[in-house]
Amino acid sequence: DTDVPLIEARALSAGYGSRPVVRDLELEVRPGEVVALLGPNGAGKTTTLRALSGGLLPMHGEAHWLGEPSRAPLHRRARQGLAYVGERAVFTRLDTADNLRVGRVTTEQALELFPELAKRLRTGAGMLSGGEQQMLSLARALCRAPRMLLADELSLGLAPLVVDRLLRAVREAADRGMGALLVEQHVRKVLDIADRVYVLHRGRVTMTGTPAELRADLDAIESSYLAEK
Ligand code: ATP
Repeated sequence: DTDVPLIEARALSAGYGSRPVVRDLELEVRPGEVVALLGPNGAGKTTTLRALSGGLLPMHGEAHWLGEPSRAPLHRRARQGLAYVGERAVFTRLDTADNLRVGRVTTEQALELFPELAKRLRTGAGMLSGGEQQMLSLARALCRAPRMLLADELSLGLAPLVVDRLLRAVREAADRGMGALLVEQHVRKVLDIADRVYVLHRGRVTMTGTPAELRADLDAIESSYLAEK
């Protein structure tokens, strides 16, 4: 059902201890959409992903998953098609092929997505480049055909061409119906593939719209990033 958002924040506040980090959040992602979540360091982007994935319970408001308020933990939502990619999540002591096997992904599926990994199948994941590690973790997520991907700084510290590769893989999965919410530092690159954008500032959504609508404000968005770094 393409009318029902996969994930939804309704007047959502979440944080740590008694202190909310994000407040009154209104956000949704529908099937087939790539949505970018932008904002300076400390704005609450990671906290938002945690609150939407069941990693953190709401202090106020609701986090919906598949059309209903949910308090289910991430591992349960994972079985229902929620994928979360954060820091390069690979088993460094296993080789690439075994990482895929543990993730219940076949090498055939992974190589279809990232043929670059073919020559690295027997290499320990700890020996892969940062880009290869992230291809491996993204392959593990995307090859299970998730309904929804939450990704926290997929492209942190990676070369521009690798960033393009990873974002293209996400875009293509969304074109087949997956929803994606991406926290990204590469503002211009993510705007190239995103359908919609939310800008978070000090825990609140301060701007939202399509990339075309936000391009005029891009300079302001980028200088606010720099201002808070
Ligand atoms: P960054 O890009 O720097 O990670 P962010 O937008 O993802 O920024 P968050 O990581 O959500 O921001 O952090 C927002 C605020 O919440 C920060 O002030 C941070 O110190 C605080 N915070 C984050 N994680 C925790 C935690 N586990 N316990 C307490 N405070 C936390």
